[in-house]
Amino acid sequence: MDHLALLERIMSEVGPEIGRGRLADYIPALAQVDPRKFGFAVADLDGRVVGVGDWEEPFSLQSVAKVFGLALVVARDGERIWERVGREPSGNPFNSLVQLEHEHGIPRNPFINAGALVVTDRLLTLTGDARGALRTFLREESGNDEVDFDAVVASSEAEHGARNAALAYFMASHDNMDNPVQTVLEHYFWQSSLTMSCRDLALAGLFLACHGLRADGSRVLSSSDAKRINAIMLTCGTYDAAGEFAYRVGLPGKSGVGGGILAVMPGRGTLSVWSPGLDSRGNSVAGVAALDRFSTLTGWSVF
Ligand code: GLN
Repeated sequence: MDHLALLERIMSEVGPEIGRGRLADYIPALAQVDPRKFGFAVADLDGRVVGVGDWEEPFSLQSVAKVFGLALVVARDGERIWERVGREPSGNPFNSLVQLEHEHGIPRNPFINAGALVVTDRLLTLTGDARGALRTFLREESGNDEVDFDAVVASSEAEHGARNAALAYFMASHDNMDNPVQTVLEHYFWQSSLTMSCRDLALAGLFLACHGLRADGSRVLSSSDAKRINAIMLTCGTYDAAGEFAYRVGLPGKSGVGGGILAVMPGRGTLSVWSPGLDSRGNSVAGVAALDRFSTLTGWSVF
């Protein structure tokens, strides 16, 4: 079966899951999104992409952006980030404070909020403009110059950002912030508000499926670094549901509370899915179901 026919079949099979779950209402701007939205796209290593449903409609990237921030920092700075962030699954919610105290301000991994704040801080030091660097990167990788921030979401994040501020100030108390905390938070909130479609996201992630190379053969990351980022996506990309996601989908994946998920099949391609209803861990209910069906029907899995 070709990919488009497969995506159509899966969209109808997961129909009952679409609209289930809760919207990310802790950020009021995200609670306004239509819960019936569903988009699903697959891109191959040559940069061909097909999709179904709302796959060309931009949605709020949220934590999916954390993968791209990490890729930029690793590309520019190599291994240094690992002095300040761990690489272990947290087993705790994405915005949890509890481990930070036990681990002296060193976040468990770069894909929980605390870790992503440290990565943002480093990107700010390296570029002088973390949010701008990330937008440029995503525009280049997706080939879409219209990829942009959503100012309403960014200010909603900032207004309801007390917990992220607590994480950042706590890390600053352990000297794990180089830039002023308020500046890091601002860049982090803008990063979460980046808006992309499933189409853009599947294309933007291709270098992770292609051992660090773009479809045109130019390099973003070394093949070891691409492997490492995929490994962290597998173990930490869906927060405290990473074990369940690996069990069901068997692919490196990164989710966000906008309802998007990017999944990577090294050597084959990328999948991106969007449906805003979230499970209790903050992962898209219909999105995980669709990826589960895709990997089952095609055998796309790293296992
Ligand atoms: N907006 C988010 C935050 O609270 C991003 C979290 C997510 O997508 N899990 O930091």
